[in-house]
Amino acid sequence: MAGCFELLRRDASSRARRGVLHTAHGDVQTPVFMPVGTRGSVKAVSPRELDELGAQIILGNTYHLFLRPGSELIAEAGGLHRFAAWNKPILTDSGGFQVFSLANLRKLEPDGVRFASHIDGTRFFLGPRESMKIQRDLGSDIVMAFDECTPYPATMEQAAKSVALTTRWETMSREQPLGSHQLRFGIVQGSVYPELRERSARAITALDFDGYAIGGVSVGEPEPEQFKAVEAAEPFLPEDRPRYLMGVGTPRQIYEGVKRGIDMFDCVMPTRLARHGTAFVTGGATLAVKGAKCREDFGPIDEKCSCYACRNFSRAYIRHLLNVNEILGVRLLSIHNIAYFMNLMKEIRQAIADGTFLQYGSTLI
Ligand SMILES: [Zn+2]
Repeated sequence: MAGCFELLRRDASSRARRGVLHTAHGDVQTPVFMPVGTRGSVKAVSPRELDELGAQIILGNTYHLFLRPGSELIAEAGGLHRFAAWNKPILTDSGGFQVFSLANLRKLEPDGVRFASHIDGTRFFLGPRESMKIQRDLGSDIVMAFDECTPYPATMEQAAKSVALTTRWETMSREQPLGSHQLRFGIVQGSVYPELRERSARAITALDFDGYAIGGVSVGEPEPEQFKAVEAAEPFLPEDRPRYLMGVGTPRQIYEGVKRGIDMFDCVMPTRLARHGTAFVTGGATLAVKGAKCREDFGPIDEKCSCYACRNFSRAYIRHLLNVNEILGVRLLSIHNIAYFMNLMKEIRQAIADGTFLQYGSTLI
């Protein structure tokens, strides 16, 4: 769909951009962070709460939804939006990343991967055709092309092979039919090799997708390699399409991504850390609410946060809930952590609009 992305402002002192992404379920102000709803639910947080927190778009995982409850059941229910009672935009990944990170007995074939489910060992086949069909069933607003997520570390030879396979699979992905409301994004691979990143970016952008993702990052590589991968691919991505850095990251990594021209991010970190009793606080540091230090701390998780958890509950109370395994403890921390990421992105968008983006960076660790 031409014109799904509008560039509102370019930062004068970096590659940062302020934009808006138009989808069938509403507009998304960028840069944006997408909370992850792996199996059709952002863990422990209801759609109503997500909406109140200002979440603009969430992510669903094709691999998980394909295994359970199955994409045909979701199609029968009217699509993922209706099934999960979320009326705002949804992005679904291709399933490739989970096939490579979770499934067993993987066998690479020219048109996809044969694998055994990590749940019960059932054998399945997933390739570009299957992934596009599943995402068509799910009815997501943004469909990701099926790629091979290059593991880290990979030799240059392995990474080059992976780039070639990704190009083949994404060409097939591009040819599959989708719903008329669905946008389709391509994914750039190339591991830590700048020349491969460039090669992949040139090949994938030639396929003319609605947006582009940089994949194969946040897979265990050192942070400087992640930034280098973005810098190597970004100059070859068209300015008038959204760019998405997959699986990133910490508040600092998100800031560094925005600085290098990225518009979209997703990460399980806010909800995963919440389940481990850890909160993000202003500046991007983490706080072990579960730790002994919070035992008699009757202040909020974060003085500067105005979320429901911080307005009403103390660190001591939430620590108590966590320690006795009361579900509310994880819920409150999840709400707060998502609020933190939503607020971070709001401040980043404001800083780009105000021309203070570089100064804003000094407030983050
Ligand atoms: Zn809060």
